[in-house]
Amino acid sequence: MKINQKNYDYLIVGAGLFGAIFAYEAALRNKRSLVIEKRPQIGGNLATHQEHGINVHDYGAHIFHTNSLEIWQYINQFSEFNNYINQVIANYQGQLYNLPFNMNTFYQMWGVKTPAEAQAKIAQQKKAAGLTGSPKNLEEQAISLIGTDIYQKLIKGYTQKQWGKDPKELPSFIIRRLPTRFTFDNNYFDHRYQGIPVSGYTTIFEKLLASELIDVQLNTDFFADKSTYLAEFPKTIYTGMIDAFFDFEYGPLEYRSLRFETVAEPTANFQGNAVINYTDSKTPYTRSMEWRHFDGQGEDNITLITKEFPQDWDETKEAYYPINDEKNNQLFKQYRAKAKQLPQVIFGGRLGNYKYYDMDQVISAALHVVQKEFN
Ligand code: FAD
Ligand code: UDP
Repeated sequence: MKINQKNYDYLIVGAGLFGAIFAYEAALRNKRSLVIEKRPQIGGNLATHQEHGINVHDYGAHIFHTNSLEIWQYINQFSEFNNYINQVIANYQGQLYNLPFNMNTFYQMWGVKTPAEAQAKIAQQKKAAGLTGSPKNLEEQAISLIGTDIYQKLIKGYTQKQWGKDPKELPSFIIRRLPTRFTFDNNYFDHRYQGIPVSGYTTIFEKLLASELIDVQLNTDFFADKSTYLAEFPKTIYTGMIDAFFDFEYGPLEYRSLRFETVAEPTANFQGNAVINYTDSKTPYTRSMEWRHFDGQGEDNITLITKEFPQDWDETKEAYYPINDEKNNQLFKQYRAKAKQLPQVIFGGRLGNYKYYDMDQVISAALHVVQKEFN
């Protein structure tokens, strides 16, 4: 039997942010889409659910942040956002430090009280490490920015756990995601707009996918029927792994996966902060999240804590992070060239474009594709 019985204009593979925005924008233009999603729910990695009145993020903590007023207004159409500001605590062998790297961190690490003292300390450690040219990897970049002590205590172990690689083998841009500041400001992000949707992210997806012109099929894997889908749909938006689309023809790209463990604790406040990073190499998890601190919602005497454990990716696991080092980026270019030969398929999102995108970048990329497609 034909899959495209309703004469859909688009097949959208993945009910995550990229796919849902494309479906929404297509519907606004009177185009009909079938969204297929292999997971049992919509929302991709942003999916949230409620437990004990607490909004739990199913795939790790998601804080919306952007510098773009246009993107901020766009996402605010679908939900009210709270005024949450991410302020992360690092726990290194029982000692606590503020993140991102700022005057509080420098004071806690060295007892320095002024920006000039902190800068002098960092310059001294950078010099002692023999770093003069431009940083060649994450380790050199980190020591150049914040010195050897902070690198050893707050970065080396966490990074090794997170990526399963030595920081010397990782690209420097990864550590530049975190601001370095010579002010006493613990805001994890430098962006102007920040918050969490007050009723969780999944409600945003319910609105994005609400049109009568959009049908959603959950628990449906594109690869179960790839050739039929491609033959029957005039155009496909594909937001899964690009190497999987091409049957790993040039070899697999590398990804990093995660495992989450959630426990309930019989108290209203267990760890005193939404996110605590465990930066030593021995603790097997990287972060511990206490969900009620993101939005203050929940019952009186129960709190939910999720620990995030990084793990190697294989085909039985979710691919959460692309590993954008030189080798993988080169391989991705081969797949991208192959994708360009298929004008009836648009590759989008974190896995389709193999890019370490945040949510605002996914929205921007999706709206760019929408512009190109409909103008
Ligand atoms: P996804 O959310 O991965 O959606 C793709 C969908 O396609 C998935 O639902 C998948 O199941 C489906 N799919 C894949 N293959 C198939 C197939 N063969 N058949 C059917 N369906 C398929 N960003 C921020 O801005 N702030 C944050 O605080 C933040 N925190 C993060 C924390 C973690 C732990 C992670 C992993 C990411 C975080 N991000 C954050 C990034 C954010 O999750 C992504 O930018 C965003 O979810 C990407 O959307 P997407 O649509 O590209 O991909
Ligand atoms: N990082 C670290 N220590 C920390 C937090 C982050 O070394 O306490 C490094 C680590 O390499 C991580 C990167 O900075 O992968 C980017 O951190 P971010 O919080 O942006 O990671 P994400 O939320 O995307 O997992």
